[in-house]
Amino acid sequence: MKPEELQALKQKALQAAAQAPDLPALNDLRTRLFGRKGELTLLLRQTGSLPPEERPAFGQAVNALKEEVAAALAQAEENLDQAAAARPGRGAEDVTLPGVMPRRGRVHPITQAERLILEVFSRLGFEVVESPEVELDWYCFEALNMPPDHPARDMQDTFYVSSDVVLRTHTSPVQVRTMESQPPPVRIVCPGKAFRRDSDATHSPMFHQVEGLMVEEGISFANLKGVLTTFVHQVFGQDVPVRFRPSFFPFTEPSAEVDIGCVVCKGEGCRVCGHTGWLEILGSGMVDPNVFKAVGYDPDKVTGFAFGMGIERVAMLLWGIDDLRMFYENDLRFLRQF
Ligand SMILES: [Zn+2]
Repeated sequence: MKPEELQALKQKALQAAAQAPDLPALNDLRTRLFGRKGELTLLLRQTGSLPPEERPAFGQAVNALKEEVAAALAQAEENLDQAAAARPGRGAEDVTLPGVMPRRGRVHPITQAERLILEVFSRLGFEVVESPEVELDWYCFEALNMPPDHPARDMQDTFYVSSDVVLRTHTSPVQVRTMESQPPPVRIVCPGKAFRRDSDATHSPMFHQVEGLMVEEGISFANLKGVLTTFVHQVFGQDVPVRFRPSFFPFTEPSAEVDIGCVVCKGEGCRVCGHTGWLEILGSGMVDPNVFKAVGYDPDKVTGFAFGMGIERVAMLLWGIDDLRMFYENDLRFLRQF
């Protein structure tokens, strides 16, 4: 190839680089020139077919040409980038396309269930109070009629922070804290997290409870039944049957667990209710006189009842969810249904 031809090839390449309309076109050009079968690549291969004395000069000329063209390509690419950056919408986007709507967040089902429960008790005159999640042994156990050797402490696989500080195993400490800080009457509900060393389809190491307490002169088991029956009917429907079953808790006497007619089989018996037709929904009882003594109330003057329920449990029954772990996996396919 003669020097004039080389020169003509260079002019053609430089012109094409300067005129490339966009990055894809520029990349095509680069391949046409420098690719495995590119014009410049093939040109250099011709060196071998030349007479030996011409080879060095030709090789040098081709290499200089390649360098010049490569620099021109780099410059053309930079110009295209700058032009794209300067255009409104950055060039890569089509502003006439329909917009993408941001997804709306939703209130988590646990929060929804908690709000529903608190709303019902608020209408019944209960005040919402909260207390610490890291709690002294005194408030979590001892003041609730569970001295250090009490077997009920074994039931509650406790997370200990130190020998007398625990992650609360239930929301009941709020009862003690409230009664310590004010005289009767007391009418409170306390929502919050509780912690136990437990994890399977129906237990989570962290779970939510709502605790309630009503104390004043003349409160009887009839008041307990009235308030809790009203609660069940407001949340699960007026027709749902309720039953009170004798039970044991260290801080209440007598104690009762509250069952509702199975919301799945309507009492016929199914897998969810273990073929009994009933589902346990909450624990309750008349406050033990020892708890009143621990907080300085006179058990001869006032009486009261307390209750507690798992919010997860209520949510599972409300929406027919059979695995508690779904609440904590943050799977959007699950959460979007609420
Ligand atoms: Zn059932």
